[in-house]
Amino acid sequence: MSDILIIGGGIIGMLTARELSLAGMKVTIVERGEAGHESSWAGGGIISPLYPWRYSDPVSALAKWGQGFYPELIEEINSETGLDAELIQNGLLMLDDEQDAALTWAKKWQSNLQLKVGS
Ligand SMILES: Cc1cc2nc3c(=O)[nH]c(=O)nc-3n(C[C@H](O)[C@H](O)[C@H](O)COP(=O)(O)OP(=O)(O)OC[C@H]3O[C@@H](n4cnc5c(N)ncnc54)[C@H](O)[C@@H]3O)c2cc1C
Repeated sequence: MSDILIIGGGIIGMLTARELSLAGMKVTIVERGEAGHESSWAGGGIISPLYPWRYSDPVSALAKWGQGFYPELIEEINSETGLDAELIQNGLLMLDDEQDAALTWAKKWQSNLQLKVGS
């Protein structure tokens, strides 16, 4: 008998199930198709909004937290599953005419990110 029933086996359902399982809950996921094969299959895996300077500070704070947490999560998942989640950490190249906003944002939020803005 499960404590929790999750409808949908995408990344949200599966990561929620993982966290609940780690907290000691018995979890069942109901998936109508193949787990991880809808939006989560199409996702590029970029842990940032595409134009982050257009978003509010709370969104930037959440993205920064996610970027910091992600390597640890991937390491755990790689070791638990024996699969390679293929984490690649690199910069962000933007071809855009919002240089000032982008550079101000980069300075404030992404001190370790190489941001090249050009057109
Ligand atoms: C082309 C593309 C690129 C993207 N790139 C990025 C990116 O770079 N970075 C980023 O952060 N996000 C990106 N996203 C968004 C990201 O992929 C989604 O926000 C994320 O995958 C959503 O996960 P999910 O688990 O909520 O949904 P899904 O992966 O769609 O999973 C939902 C699951 O629920 C199942 N389901 C639905 N209804 C039922 C039902 N009634 N009964 C049983 N099962 C059901 C579906 O079959 C599906 O498997 C991208 C999305 C797309 C489409």
